[in-house]
Amino acid sequence: MIELEIKLMKNILGANDEIAALNRKLFAERGVAVMNLMGSPGSGKTTLLEQTLRRIVGRLRVAVIEGDLFTAKDAERIERAGVDVIQINTAGGCHLDAAMIQRACMSLNLDALDLLIVENVGNLVCPAEFDIGENFKAVVLSITEGDDKPLKYPLIFKESAAVVLNKIDLLEFTNFDLPSARQDLTTLHPTIKIFETSCTRGDGLDDWAAWLIGRTVR
Ligand code: MG
Ligand code: ZN
Repeated sequence: MIELEIKLMKNILGANDEIAALNRKLFAERGVAVMNLMGSPGSGKTTLLEQTLRRIVGRLRVAVIEGDLFTAKDAERIERAGVDVIQINTAGGCHLDAAMIQRACMSLNLDALDLLIVENVGNLVCPAEFDIGENFKAVVLSITEGDDKPLKYPLIFKESAAVVLNKIDLLEFTNFDLPSARQDLTTLHPTIKIFETSCTRGDGLDDWAAWLIGRTVR
């Protein structure tokens, strides 16, 4: 029984990987960089994205794909930033997969883009397992989630090129051990870029935006 489930999961991931490879080829042909932005519900992905767009729109041609279980609340917020947004509702599904991205891209003019940002469904587990054809992943971890998360959910931190430690302004009100979290992150993934951001105070956002521009411009 257990073996059967593992086999089934392997087949699902195999089929996903094939479509992800097609997506990746399409993105390369059209010259668009794609970031898969992941993190827990409430980590501040959409707020970070709003702040990021303020810093990169005008320098990069950007569009956003918003993944959510239900509602278009986040897509409506991003639309106000003045970029094209495609909403994917997973109807309860806890991650985006390559086929969803393939379909969403049919409504985008990829030739007119430098960067496509995909905000994945809020979840620290399976979004890291499903390749969507992105060029790189980034994960948002807020201070209020606790410093134990990198070791408890290692895959997402191993897979991500950058981690954004968000809500850093709340550090003094929590028992989040910043040096220990940084140590755990570097142990899991020695080359991971670590940003400390506050979307209310503005800390770290320019550095993060500059890194993103650097990853996009080739
Ligand atoms: Mg969001
Ligand atoms: Zn899932």
